[in-house]
Amino acid sequence: MASYDYETHEYDCIVIGAGGAGLRATLGMAEQGLRTACITKVFPTRSHTVAAQGGIAASLSNMGPDHWQWHMYDTVKGSDWLGDTDAMEYLAREAPKAVYELEHYGVPFSRTEAGKIYQRPFGGHTTEFGEGPPVQRTCAAADRTGHAILHTLYGQSLKNNAEFYIEYFATDLIMSDDGTCQGVLAWNLEDGSLHLFSAKMTVLATGGYGRAYFSATSAHPCTGDGGGMVARAGLPLQDMEFVQFHPTGIYGSGCLITEGARGEGGYLTNSEGERFMERYAPTYKDLASRDVVSRCMTMEIRAGRGVGAEGDHIHLHLNHLPPETLAERLPGISESARIFAGVDLTREPIPVLPTVHYNMGGIPTNYWGEVLNPTADDPDRISPGLMAVGEAGCASVHGANRLGSNSLIDLVVFGRAAAIKAGEVVDRDAAIPTPNPASVEKALDRFDRFRYADGAMPTADLRLEMQKTMQADAAVFRTDKTLAEGVEKMHGVAGKMGDIKVSDRSLVWNSDLMETLELDNLMPNALATIISAEARKESRGAHAHEDYPDRDDENWRVHSLTTFAGEGPKLAYRPVHLDPLTSHNEGGIDLKKIAPKARVY
Ligand SMILES: Cc1cc2nc3c(=O)[nH]c(=O)nc-3n(C[C@H](O)[C@H](O)[C@H](O)COP(=O)(O)OP(=O)(O)OC[C@H]3O[C@@H](n4cnc5c(N)ncnc54)[C@H](O)[C@@H]3O)c2cc1C
Repeated sequence: MASYDYETHEYDCIVIGAGGAGLRATLGMAEQGLRTACITKVFPTRSHTVAAQGGIAASLSNMGPDHWQWHMYDTVKGSDWLGDTDAMEYLAREAPKAVYELEHYGVPFSRTEAGKIYQRPFGGHTTEFGEGPPVQRTCAAADRTGHAILHTLYGQSLKNNAEFYIEYFATDLIMSDDGTCQGVLAWNLEDGSLHLFSAKMTVLATGGYGRAYFSATSAHPCTGDGGGMVARAGLPLQDMEFVQFHPTGIYGSGCLITEGARGEGGYLTNSEGERFMERYAPTYKDLASRDVVSRCMTMEIRAGRGVGAEGDHIHLHLNHLPPETLAERLPGISESARIFAGVDLTREPIPVLPTVHYNMGGIPTNYWGEVLNPTADDPDRISPGLMAVGEAGCASVHGANRLGSNSLIDLVVFGRAAAIKAGEVVDRDAAIPTPNPASVEKALDRFDRFRYADGAMPTADLRLEMQKTMQADAAVFRTDKTLAEGVEKMHGVAGKMGDIKVSDRSLVWNSDLMETLELDNLMPNALATIISAEARKESRGAHAHEDYPDRDDENWRVHSLTTFAGEGPKLAYRPVHLDPLTSHNEGGIDLKKIAPKARVY
């Protein structure tokens, strides 16, 4: 048994993660007078949300007619009919409220001439239930929307006396014997001390796991730590096979060029100079949804029409737009193009390639952010004391594919919903739970095991092996053969965690140990992705299976659940929620409008 001293802390609520979702939840809880702590491994304003450029979707109608029902329709269609209908209704309905709240908190949105919040077009966002022209629904603060939101929410959280534990790495959930979450063990990276946090409600807001892949737009800390902690607690991960490739990662670096670039009039060309999206998506062209555009680009490259010396990428043109528009609306990406592609985008096209960008799957929750631990009899069973929000969670509003600018709105709508729910279910007068000693011991033992790991496999080498396997075998296009091989390879790769080598035994800023703990979190995320992808014998949203090119609603309109317990990963399924929150008579959407049909743009 590992012996470590640790400091103890008690709160009503603890939030792990200080991205948009974590900060919105923290702020909402602190505002209600709940004693709230936010634990984060990076400084709050360095969370990946800071990199979100394009904007945040809400049907404000500032630039023309819009309606929450149209937003809901687009989200349902974008999800390829895998999202939960109640959660998607909640998202679309609450979105305007959540954005106005951000405005009042002080987010410096770009403005129209009339002083209203500026909104731009984004892929897959339309009018009249997909029958009308594209809509301008994406609210933006130039191309630095995430940056503006994060700084504002951090300031507001401090103002409301939320307490921050910055550069603290949460290692494991503390669970009671009957499965209630009681808090978390965390490691202070700066001074090496350990900390045991007990709370009535623990919220995972740890972001995505893009770093399971070799080329990703997400930042280095996006290692699926929440998913790893949940997997070790014996709880499932949902819909992990759905990984979004963004059409326009800069060739080579993976750095993102926002979809807002195409929203402002940018377009893609192949080696023949052809605007090929006109052929594949005659109506919405370059603004078809992301999975569609990524697949079309891949098909062009495969057909020998890629650009560059190796014919392995595509060109994105912005050079036809007035330099003033570029300077005003897209200053950040002008800079990214110069630094990461060596391109002056007022003169030349940017070399781009589909790059891993977003994880639709994650920790299953209801639309209040409460984590689910489904059984066959009760597919919506709640796992007490635990919530998940943001990219770490799966509510599920993005289903098989997320629309651009629907993540930032997901962060604030569900961060806010989690805070509202916590206000209802957390009993302020109740005692803080006493942490289960067996669970604490297990967490300390795991920490100690990695600290002294003395195998043959350096962390960086094993990470690269995992990333290359995922990149090759769980990519934009998938086949039975690549997936089966990939599953076998990933089992081999994950098995090598037992032979990992950590060279630094210290506790102060030991990045070797931290990266090893992160890799151990990435592994179940990666495994769940490829295992559930191999099992899904259809094509839906981002899961494009060449041996099963069609969507199969009869057999596969279900959420996948991957659980790591006992002798290895197990797959199960739970039904998609088909019922909306409000009936059509009471002003809800007409279900006929969102009945499944072919997804064309
Ligand atoms: C380049 C880029 C551009 C994007 N642009 C847009 C856009 O324009 N519009 C849109 O809607 N979406 C966009 N997205 C998607 C969206 O930004 C993300 O999905 C979203 O920001 C995720 O937010 P989050 O709060 O869930 O997590 P993050 O912002 O990733 O934050 C995760 C937090 O968890 C903490 N954390 C993680 N693990 C631990 C641990 N073990 N211990 C302690 N703390 C931990 C981190 O410190 C961090 O604070 C973009 C994504 C990328 C990568």
